[in-house]
Amino acid sequence: MSGEADMTESRLDSKTALITGAASGIGRESAALFARHGAAVVLVDREGDAVSAVAAELVEQGHRAIAVTADVSSDADAARMIEEAETAFGSLHVLFNNAGIMHPDDGDAQQTSEEVWDLTMSVNLKGVWLGCRHGIPALRRAGGGSVINTGSFVALLGAATPQIAYTASKGGVVAMSRELAVIHARENIRVNALCPGPLHTELLMSVLDTDEKRERRRVHIPMGRFGEPSEIAQAALWLASDESSFTTGTEFVVDGGITSAYVTPEGPPR
Ligand code: NAD
Repeated sequence: MSGEADMTESRLDSKTALITGAASGIGRESAALFARHGAAVVLVDREGDAVSAVAAELVEQGHRAIAVTADVSSDADAARMIEEAETAFGSLHVLFNNAGIMHPDDGDAQQTSEEVWDLTMSVNLKGVWLGCRHGIPALRRAGGGSVINTGSFVALLGAATPQIAYTASKGGVVAMSRELAVIHARENIRVNALCPGPLHTELLMSVLDTDEKRERRRVHIPMGRFGEPSEIAQAALWLASDESSFTTGTEFVVDGGITSAYVTPEGPPR
């Protein structure tokens, strides 16, 4: 858990934030960053031991944190995670629907099995819907708040390595977030889709599992490197805070320039 900018003020003081997929990657970095900025954090993950360990570490550092073991694709689990957040900390102000999977057998339209398609949609798209289904009423009870749904750059441009179910699920997240933003705009509830570029996380590196595959993706990033989860956490912090009070319905892209690029195999001119 690293990469925090040198901030002195607490940008999420008196807020409670629930973060799914908090045992690893973007979710873990965001939970730690939000906590350092004064939020009480509810860390949700299907990996119970791992998420409990992250929450315990935050508590040890003097932060307010609880862990909830839940599968975001289960309606009952999604209801319970929101309930536990309100029970522990009184109200919920930030809902970060971030948990997601990238299945190794997700390929093109012929290669991808129905099972892989259904599982991917269930976690990546239905999971975000269920988080919103149960979380938005909680934000309303709190007088408003910020919903951040993790999309991806692949919702915005076609990637050379096909992952058809993943891409379709992220397109759904972006479209759904936009519509939710419009629906809830007058309730002081903002909804944004955070769209990271390729990151140096377990999720992507386990799929790009050879130097050749990583290189094939890396050459398309104008900055010439993969992003770090801590860099996405910084963007999530801004979207979670009141600093982004006029920002809703966006495709909030944090991607090292990949969606702005044509093909940049040689890298941009120096
Ligand atoms: P990660 O694999 O490091 O973390 C994902 C976490 O989600 C894990 O802790 C996992 O246990 C949890 N999770 C998975 N399924 C779950 C479920 N059904 N219920 C509860 N928890 C579940 O991945 P990451 O890179 O931090 O990804 C976070 C989000 O960012 C995902 O939605 C991913 O699609 C998205 N994203 C990642 C990249 C990238 O390059 N890594 C790029 C764009 C978008």
